[in-house]
Amino acid sequence: VKLATVISGDAYRLHIVTDDGLVDLDGAAAALGEELARGISDVGALMRRGEMTLEAVQHVCNRLDEVDVAVVSRESVALGPPVVAPSKILCVGLNYVLHAEEGKSVVPPEPLLFAKLPSALVGDGMPVHYHPTTSELDYEGELAVIMGRRASRVAERDALDCVGAFTIFNDISARDRQASEPQWIRGKSLDTFAPVGPYAVTTEEIGDVDSLRIQTRVNGELRQDAVCSDMINSVPQLIAFITEAITLEPGDIIATGTPHGVGLGFDPPRYLRPGDVIEVTIAEIGTLRSPIVERPDSSVLKAATMVSSRQA
Ligand code: MG
Repeated sequence: VKLATVISGDAYRLHIVTDDGLVDLDGAAAALGEELARGISDVGALMRRGEMTLEAVQHVCNRLDEVDVAVVSRESVALGPPVVAPSKILCVGLNYVLHAEEGKSVVPPEPLLFAKLPSALVGDGMPVHYHPTTSELDYEGELAVIMGRRASRVAERDALDCVGAFTIFNDISARDRQASEPQWIRGKSLDTFAPVGPYAVTTEEIGDVDSLRIQTRVNGELRQDAVCSDMINSVPQLIAFITEAITLEPGDIIATGTPHGVGLGFDPPRYLRPGDVIEVTIAEIGTLRSPIVERPDSSVLKAATMVSSRQA
């Protein structure tokens, strides 16, 4: 199942992504009498409802050709983040050897975890702001995990059972802030610094996670190109490591680290400027597109923030 969070007026509505376009889940579920699949705003809300609701959504997907539902194109709608309000976003630093080398960093003995604030989330196509706070704006294309159930002290062999879906994450980073401040929270969590999407693909549909290929382009130029089997710590290893210490909730996001090819790794570094467009692609999921724009004045920013922080 492939899902998208569509912004509809002042609400979010979960949509099913088909080859022909996006179908409103609530409308299709109503037509098919699948009451459990009704009234779901986003992938986070779906994961919090649990297994039976996920099965009901699967039934709706399987029977879409039985009902006459409207199909809308991706271009005709605005997308929110697949998970609108996760309880947390955990990120993994230095999880690819060549990326550690390009940053002249030593591979850490254990996964390097840091947090990104949910207030930084934006959906596919939404602008990333060029903040006056930084002059070293950088991209990091990453595979992201969306937790499907509560997970505490999970063994590696059971870890993928706790994953609900996968998506694409761009761990936008202010390198100057990251380098000059002992905690990374500001350099990694400036407003709009967490583009995610466009879609979430459920675990049973994604297939072999290790074989996923991630590519990042800036203004069409290929900058990052790696397979997820290059990760130092695999998705199950990361989940086991995190949940040994921290309980993950349904809808929580883990950004699994970026491969080499970030702007920082070039000599001289190639940082982002207003007008640039970043595209992160994992073929099985889609392409997450983020234009860089000058940060709007405060009144406009306030309105934009209201859109991105609307609760499910
Ligand atoms: Mg990262």
